[in-house]
Amino acid sequence: MVGILEDKDRIFTNLYGLHDWRLEGAKKRGAWNATKDMLSMTPEWICEQIKNSGLRGRGGAGFSTGLKWTFMPKQESERPHYLVVNADESEPGTCKDREILRNDPHLLIEGALIASYAMRAHTCFIYIRGEYVHERERLEEAVKEAYEAKLIGKGNVHGWDLDIRVHHGGGAYICGDETALLESLEGKKGQPRLKPPFPAGAGVYGCPTTVNNVESIAVVGTILRRGAGWFAGFGRPNNTGTKLMCISGHVEKPCNVEEAMSIPLKQLLEDHCGGVRGGWGNLKAVIPGGSSVRMIPAHEAETALMDFDSLGALKSGLGTAAVIVMDQSTDLVRAIARISYFYKHESCGQCTPCREGTGWMWRVMERMATGEAEMKEIDLLLDVASQVEGHTICALGDAAAWPIQGLFRHFRPEIEARITAYRAGRPHVQGATLVAAE
Ligand code: SF4
Repeated sequence: MVGILEDKDRIFTNLYGLHDWRLEGAKKRGAWNATKDMLSMTPEWICEQIKNSGLRGRGGAGFSTGLKWTFMPKQESERPHYLVVNADESEPGTCKDREILRNDPHLLIEGALIASYAMRAHTCFIYIRGEYVHERERLEEAVKEAYEAKLIGKGNVHGWDLDIRVHHGGGAYICGDETALLESLEGKKGQPRLKPPFPAGAGVYGCPTTVNNVESIAVVGTILRRGAGWFAGFGRPNNTGTKLMCISGHVEKPCNVEEAMSIPLKQLLEDHCGGVRGGWGNLKAVIPGGSSVRMIPAHEAETALMDFDSLGALKSGLGTAAVIVMDQSTDLVRAIARISYFYKHESCGQCTPCREGTGWMWRVMERMATGEAEMKEIDLLLDVASQVEGHTICALGDAAAWPIQGLFRHFRPEIEARITAYRAGRPHVQGATLVAAE
């Protein structure tokens, strides 16, 4: 058997686009089946089912989706409620929502209807990443089909009016932050807001809003069809369900795959990706959850499970389950310097530790990569990283600090050796560990 999850338990049965993505094809695969029955239950019942399923937000933060929904006001008032779907997938290494948007968009639209009903929202915005042009076209076409079939819209067959608006972003990474996304949606510069107030109290246009990731919403219909207990039966307590995982880097066959939560990382790489390039012994490190989480070295990857708690205990994180595999040929310092540049480039500049700190950390990382930095700068860099972490408006500050902290936590001797070699006239050559100048 390949992996843990059996084909009969997959939610995304058209992940690879081999079948019809349109309404008829989606219906044959189960979408829009019994949706009316679900909406005949109370919003409280739906929230309770999603809570019982153990679904935690699939965008990286891992907060209970059902619990988040209950933060919305329980009664409709003159202020409308909104559901906003975050399809601004931009975390380096992550390419899971893209496959839902282009190959199974009706699962997302159905989930949006159910979630909107559970939160008493009559309008749903889907904010899609600027670079996802093809995906936006597919999604818009699927939304049109749903309107024409009266599955959504005013007076639809389900009895809960819902308008869905697809909004194409401008291509800024920071708009993936939920409050920056709301600012951008309102036509303003995409800069994160200070919290509180939280979106459930004052979100888009100052009205109660819940922002959910694409995958979190797209699994809702299947969870209710098959039962909260079915979804909760995968993985470990507190880490339940199935999860899309995207594996890139030095494996034989990089891929996207839906797997059971808590699958051993080693099994994921060997069963689905043909193993690490050159064999498991050639593995150097893994970034298990997208570029913002701390890397883990090969010996920790050996026993790590792909879930929130296992990776959290290793001081890393599940994030978006975007696994970046790096073999022995990887210049880890150069790789993290490049990631540092990314966060410096994407900082919105609103708060000082992030605006100044990301640029400062990147410049030092560049000198660490060549070996030109001084030994005492290592502790200085870690000190600055710890002062950026947790001291900013949004999580981009943490995202910039964590990759650096992960590198030094596990590979500090390698960087020290590089600095020593540079001082001795043996500069580092990119792609090699240490090369003598002679
Ligand atoms: Fe902007 Fe960075 Fe502050 Fe986030 S942490 S609000 S990206 S400056």
